[in-house]
Amino acid sequence: MKLPPIAHVAPRRLGEAVSRLADAPPGQALPLAGGQSLVPLLASRDRTPRLLVDLRDLGELTGVGEHDGFLRIGAMTRQHTLATHARIGAAAPLVAEAAARTGHASVRHRGTFGGTLAHAAHPAQLVVAAYALDARLLVSGPGGARTTALRSLFAGPGLRHDEILTAVELPLRGPGSGHAFGQVAHPVGGRPVASVAAVVDTAPDGTVLRAEVTVGTRVSPPTAVDVTHRLRDAGAAAGETVPTGPGQPQWQGPPTGPPAAYCRHAVRVLADRVLTEAITRARRPGAGAPPVPSGSGHDAPPVPTRETP
Ligand SMILES: Cc1cc2nc3c(=O)[nH]c(=O)nc-3n(C[C@H](O)[C@H](O)[C@H](O)COP(=O)(O)OP(=O)(O)OC[C@H]3O[C@@H](n4cnc5c(N)ncnc54)[C@H](O)[C@@H]3O)c2cc1C
Repeated sequence: MKLPPIAHVAPRRLGEAVSRLADAPPGQALPLAGGQSLVPLLASRDRTPRLLVDLRDLGELTGVGEHDGFLRIGAMTRQHTLATHARIGAAAPLVAEAAARTGHASVRHRGTFGGTLAHAAHPAQLVVAAYALDARLLVSGPGGARTTALRSLFAGPGLRHDEILTAVELPLRGPGSGHAFGQVAHPVGGRPVASVAAVVDTAPDGTVLRAEVTVGTRVSPPTAVDVTHRLRDAGAAAGETVPTGPGQPQWQGPPTGPPAAYCRHAVRVLADRVLTEAITRARRPGAGAPPVPSGSGHDAPPVPTRETP
């Protein structure tokens, strides 16, 4: 379907972008990032704003850098950059892996980290990876900037209509940490049906100190399960997060989706697989992200990234 007429602005300052959103009633002005989810929603009339506030020229939303023990990634960082950036691959390999599994090349060259998290599709690869890493979100609104946990967005009301997600912060993980990601995707179009991520920490002798499996499916929101003491039946524990009833199907395509029983089975199989892989990786010599270099703390400037417009 053709897009309806919609006004479009591309502010160069974050404050102006926030004002444009705040000046309009909820739903009448929307941020536009890569457009990979929003444009189809406009075309189908699921969203009917009068104004799009394009984030493409906001320098505050770009860059990759370290900040106070976190890897900070600008919200407008494209999925392709997440998958290929050397620092992200070293410090947050789970995010790089999830980004590489998202959509296809043309989607990844436009879709952004911030847009994917703001859209918050439950089985989205990057949503599950960022949830597994307990990501923090930097958000700007009319009242100023705030930091919130991604996990709290799914537990609460989410972003306000006049707030812009500016950056994502991922905790830098130390030696002995490991991760793995797995998904079942729809055979047509490749969108995820179920995504599962495992994050583990091990002692120098290989003992598992902490193991967590995060699950997001088309019928259930992202949920993290502590399986430190259930390593042998982690699949069953993860599967319990998927409702056996009809659940709350969250599906961006036709109003049909896989039944909950299929999602639960997929999660059980994936969870055992990714946990085994994460533990194997954690026990490899030199596993885990390098520790934060001294002096790279609080005010370390972000490293600019080259972005595909
Ligand atoms: C063919 C196809 C295949 C796809 N396959 C997958 C897949 O396998 N996995 C997957 O996860 N996704 C998939 N997608 C969706 C894609 O990953 C989108 O890029 C992503 O969901 C949204 O990112 P975006 O930058 O395009 O955001 P947009 O589409 O521009 O925006 C999405 C929503 O977030 C809001 N928003 C955007 N940026 C911000 C911000 N900084 N602050 C506040 N709100 C913001 C917008 O207002 C909108 O409501 C696919 C899309 C297509 C077209």
